[in-house]
Amino acid sequence: MQVLYDVLLPGPWWHPLTYSGNGKDFPEKGCRVRVPIGRTERTGIVTDAREVKGEVCDKQQFSCRSILYAVDEAPAVTEEILQTLFLAGKHFLCGPGELLKSAFPSPFFDGKEAPNAPRMSPEETRTYSVAFIRDAKDSDRFRSYLEILGKDDHGGFVIFPERNRAALFWENLPDKLKERAILWPAGNGKRAWESWIRVLKGQRNIVIGSMGCLFAPLTCIRNVIVEDEGNPVYYSRRYPYIHARSVLTYRARYWKAKLVLGGAMPSSRSFLFRKEKCTARTGGRLIFADKSEAREFEVRGVRRPLPVTDAVLTRTQEAAAGHGVVMWLLDRIGYASGIWCRECESILTCPKCGTATRWETRESTAVCPFCGNRGKLPEECPNCGGAFMEGIKPGIEASVDLAANLLGNKALVHEWHKAVTKEKSSRNKMLKKLEVSGGIVTGTRKALELCDDIPVALVCWLDIDTELLKPSYDVKYRAFRMIWESLWRGMEPENRKVILQTKKTGTAWQKKLGKGWHEFWESELAERKELDLPPWKFLVEINTKSRIKNEMLSILESEGFECLDPDPKSGLFWVRTEKTETLRKAVEPFFSVSRSKEGFPRMRVCID
Ligand SMILES: [Zn+2]
Ligand SMILES: [Zn+2]
Repeated sequence: MQVLYDVLLPGPWWHPLTYSGNGKDFPEKGCRVRVPIGRTERTGIVTDAREVKGEVCDKQQFSCRSILYAVDEAPAVTEEILQTLFLAGKHFLCGPGELLKSAFPSPFFDGKEAPNAPRMSPEETRTYSVAFIRDAKDSDRFRSYLEILGKDDHGGFVIFPERNRAALFWENLPDKLKERAILWPAGNGKRAWESWIRVLKGQRNIVIGSMGCLFAPLTCIRNVIVEDEGNPVYYSRRYPYIHARSVLTYRARYWKAKLVLGGAMPSSRSFLFRKEKCTARTGGRLIFADKSEAREFEVRGVRRPLPVTDAVLTRTQEAAAGHGVVMWLLDRIGYASGIWCRECESILTCPKCGTATRWETRESTAVCPFCGNRGKLPEECPNCGGAFMEGIKPGIEASVDLAANLLGNKALVHEWHKAVTKEKSSRNKMLKKLEVSGGIVTGTRKALELCDDIPVALVCWLDIDTELLKPSYDVKYRAFRMIWESLWRGMEPENRKVILQTKKTGTAWQKKLGKGWHEFWESELAERKELDLPPWKFLVEINTKSRIKNEMLSILESEGFECLDPDPKSGLFWVRTEKTETLRKAVEPFFSVSRSKEGFPRMRVCID
């Protein structure tokens, strides 16, 4: 008799690797072990230990090397976390091993000493339930969350799309909750490790955080609260692409907890599950301004003017006169999007990757939006040597001068977007100035986060039409929720007005803003059903080498999957499927450790 161990290791293959025992250590499921792999060694987690007769190992030609040693004497990982890793790895088609690095703080894999995981299982008598909290105002929803958390002293999760919002919620916790809560730190290093240990030891049992806290080792979870559950930020930006709401749903199910889906507006999936009605109305707070009647302001060095309507100009002046805060928003960062030569009309592209560059005013740089490469804006055209390089469309930085002229004071105009240095001190300084004298904040949608810190009297979207041109199946939703957020987010939303500058006033889509989000979702879901789009079916993006793509395409098509391959020369394609399970079975052979030399495809599952 000998013991075989299945060991889950950080890596892109989908299955655990099998090792034999070393005769000295007998680690259980959930223990860390050190194992050899290739010419190196790594730390993994035992997911199964079984006794077999000696010859089986050789017969089945397992990669049967022996474990080096056991790191833990007792499990450091709970049964539930292991199960959640496997579920998420399956559903999001990335494999559990790929999730390990984001699921555990890095000292975990350095073999740092960890406390024993409690052996808890959910109470038989409990049942899993789902509740929705849809108050339009953040403060109303947050009050409900506090009530829910205060009702029992067992484990709870509250997750926010942004860490700032999690921190704000944490700061306002009543003392009784705060003493058993933890604000999950950003990053994956020492501080995350300390938090991980405190939660595993049961010293803290309410976890408040953003994407980084999904696998916090809580046990006996009773409440899982997902704030702003439809926010696309819950798709992880980096591979592996999981969705936070789904992962927390698995955890809530396991513990038979109450899953609370909150947010001023539901996700498509939640709306499909329960046809809620929106009770919030915009009243007279939402104003459409016809862009074709706008004044066209020349922007130095940019071909197209910046159109600003009288509605924006006069209401901005009115608000500023009362020391109010106004936002001018445009989701085009930089001074101009696109730079071209007026003589030969060639577009300035990134020298590294060939993407069209944008112009940022700081040091007159040409910035690549794709790879981030920065170069000096050339004085002469690299193509024809002509001396007239100009911007094509004005970006948000181009509105700064106009804003300053309008208020007659440059000190009243602030910028808030990705290109601005984001130190906390500069943010606080800006907020102080705004609090005292009001002014205009020019920025991208990111600027809306300032509504959490300061009452904003007026939000002006300078070009809402471009939001609807982005090449994604859910653009209409993204634009709708962004406007909804502009109307309701943060402090004193009832006193805020929102102006949308658009060339197409009175479209069906815009009218739904006045009637509430259920009207929007009803028609949007009907359209998506026609096209077999999420949430009706899963849309899966697959990115791989061309050769592997062709291999995958032929297998998937022969099995009857509907594949979309818009660019046969690239390694990218899409598959629509009713269940990710069936797709997973079809592509599983591509994710075996034996294919390490060929490389592994990356898949992204769109669920909403
Ligand atoms: Zn030229
Ligand atoms: Zn580039």
